[in-house]
Amino acid sequence: MTKFLNGRNALVTGSTSGIGAGIARALAEAGANVMLNGFGGADDIESLRNRMETQFEVRVGHHPADLTRPNEIVDLITHTENAFGSLDILVNNAGIQFVSPLESFPPEMWDKIIAINLTAAFHAIRLVIGGMKQNGWGRIISTASTHGLVSSPFKSAYAAAKHGLVGLTKTAALEAAEYGVTVNAVCPGYVLTPLVEGQIPDLARSRGMTEDQVKRDVMLQSQPTRRFVTVEEIGAFACFLCSEGARSITGGVLTIDGGCTSQ
Ligand code: NAD
Repeated sequence: MTKFLNGRNALVTGSTSGIGAGIARALAEAGANVMLNGFGGADDIESLRNRMETQFEVRVGHHPADLTRPNEIVDLITHTENAFGSLDILVNNAGIQFVSPLESFPPEMWDKIIAINLTAAFHAIRLVIGGMKQNGWGRIISTASTHGLVSSPFKSAYAAAKHGLVGLTKTAALEAAEYGVTVNAVCPGYVLTPLVEGQIPDLARSRGMTEDQVKRDVMLQSQPTRRFVTVEEIGAFACFLCSEGARSITGGVLTIDGGCTSQ
C-alpha cells in the first residue's frame, strides 16, 4: 500500500480490540501516526502498539481515557495533539452493547451506552473540528452500525445511540463542508468481535435459542452474504475515506453490511 497518509496524525477510540484495532492498523499501514485508546491488559496493549510501530514504521501511542468521562476525553485529545503536533483524523469507534427487553432494560446501562456510543463522539468532535477547519483538512469517521439505520428488538439504547451518531455526523459534515473536512458514519453489519461474541448468550436467552442458532439464524440470516464482515474490510474502507479520492464524500451514512439493510 502507498503511504498516502504519511505526515497525518490519527486518533482511533476503542482501538485495543476488534474494529478499532482493524482501523488503526489500516491507517498505520497507510503511513499515519496513530493514538490508540481503549481498555485491556497493559502487556497486550504494549505489544499491539509495539507491533504496529515496527511493522508500519509510524509512531503509535496509547491513551487509556475512559470515554464515559468528558474530562478524560479532553485529556485524550490534548495528549494526542501534544504527542503528534496535530490531529488530522478522528475515528469515533468505541462502543458497547447491552441486549434486553425494554421493560427490564437497566437505566444505568442506557446511560452508559449513550455516554460511550454517542456523547463521547460529540465531545471528541467538538474538541477537534475547529482545528481541522483552521488547517483546511480533516477526516472524522464514526463507527455507527446498521442499527444507525434500522433496529431490532432488545437493542433500544444501542439503536438510539447509533441513530444519534448518524444525526451528529450529518450536522458536523454540514458545518465543516467548506473547510476540507469530511465527516462520515460507517455502518457495519455483523463483525465477529468480542462485542458480538458477548451478546450471543443474551440473545440466545432472550430468543430461546442456542448460541449456534443465534449466529446462523439471527445474525447471518440478516446478512445476505451469509458471512461476517471483517475488521480488515472496515479498515480498508476507513482508509479510502481518508484519501483525496474521497474528499467529496461527506455526511455519508455508509453501509458495509453484506447487503443487510437492502432487504
Ligand atoms: P470490541 O468490544 O471488540 O471493542 C470495543 C472497544 O471499545 C475496545 O477497545 C474497548 O476497550 C473500547 N471501550 C469500551 N468502553 C470504553 C470506554 N468507556 N472508554 C474507552 N474505550 C472503551 O467491539 P467492536 O465490535 O470492535 O465494536 C467497535 C465499534 O463498532 C462499536 O462502536 C460498535 O458499536 C460498532 N459496531 C460493531 C459491530 C460488530 O458486529 N462487531 C457492528 C456494527 C457496529
